[in-house]
Amino acid sequence: MVIEAKPVGVYIHIPFCKNKCIYCDFYSVNNSDEHLLNDYCQAVICEIRAASEQLHNILVTTIFFGGGTPSLLNSRNIKGILDTIKDSFPVLPTAEITVEANPATIDAPKMDQYLEAGVNRFSVGAQSFSDQELSVLGRIHKADDILRIVELFHKKKIKNFNLDLIYGIPGQSIKRWEANLTKAIDCIPAHISAYLLQLGSETVMARMAAQNIIELCDENTEAEMYERTIDLLSGCGFRHYELSNFSRPEFKCQHNLIYWRGENYLGFGAGAVSYIDNRRFINQPDLVDYIKNLTSGKKQAVEELENMTMKEQVSDTIILGLRLCEGININELNQRYSINIEKEYGKAIDNNIQKGLLNYKNGQLFLTRRGYFLSNEVLCHFIA
Ligand code: SF4
Repeated sequence: MVIEAKPVGVYIHIPFCKNKCIYCDFYSVNNSDEHLLNDYCQAVICEIRAASEQLHNILVTTIFFGGGTPSLLNSRNIKGILDTIKDSFPVLPTAEITVEANPATIDAPKMDQYLEAGVNRFSVGAQSFSDQELSVLGRIHKADDILRIVELFHKKKIKNFNLDLIYGIPGQSIKRWEANLTKAIDCIPAHISAYLLQLGSETVMARMAAQNIIELCDENTEAEMYERTIDLLSGCGFRHYELSNFSRPEFKCQHNLIYWRGENYLGFGAGAVSYIDNRRFINQPDLVDYIKNLTSGKKQAVEELENMTMKEQVSDTIILGLRLCEGININELNQRYSINIEKEYGKAIDNNIQKGLLNYKNGQLFLTRRGYFLSNEVLCHFIA
């Protein structure tokens, strides 16, 4: 009997930044010391090797270096981690291998070395093409840094790159957001992610807003910005395939699709989350302990977040799947979980269809355009 290998995405968490942006509540520390980064990468390598002894019959289909600021790593570290993954697991020859890059931390030689190590996609934290807005966000780069890195991509014939943008920045007008989008389109990226600025209560910017030092955009302006984003990008050949993501045909982010489709992924690094066979695990986030434990041969402390019940699995798959513009295929889900979704969630589905927020066509259930901006209102009806 041939047992098919299980496809998995691999996520490598690099929780270091040169300077914390004031709107950010991701887990990362303000430190780019080369020795610390080297030690951390050695620990990640140890963790991957240890995992390979436990996990069999998997096929790595995507690799994603996220953070933090992965582009702080030198190419030896990126290569060391990629080589270890390839030595430890079978890797699809066409695997998408992405590095998130801050425009201020990458130059031509580093880009060449990353490419040589096997990286084939870059995701650039551009956020804005206005120096004033970048300064409001507390970013370490300037608009010129984005243009410089984009010029390098084109020079090196790298088509597969993403630009991350943020809208709803304090003081940003709809016109200025459109100007950002236009500049991003002019860069000819394969993919654009446009995220609404959403502030965790512990962020510096949230405190500044609470003290009226800055004024946040109002909801109507944000909704209008989102509408213009869809119109402008769709009109320029980008497909809107997820609430905040737009790509040229063939350039959807394969790694992120794994999350939205509720498929398996392995996370390595301090605080990284894994999801395997409906079980979710998180690595202990403490950096010092992570490095000490892994490099001394001890096991990294892993906590199981949830061993999900069938109802939770279905709920998760619906909530994540509805983020995709194609939505979810009801028959496929019924078969995958041996349930009747229309019966289980009939009321939630009907109510949202009546409100014009959901639509059902050819077996697919999906958000309407009106439902995109109000997605939280819809998705909360599917929580287990
Ligand atoms: S570079 Fe990214 S991860 Fe680091 S502080 Fe800024 S937004 Fe957060």
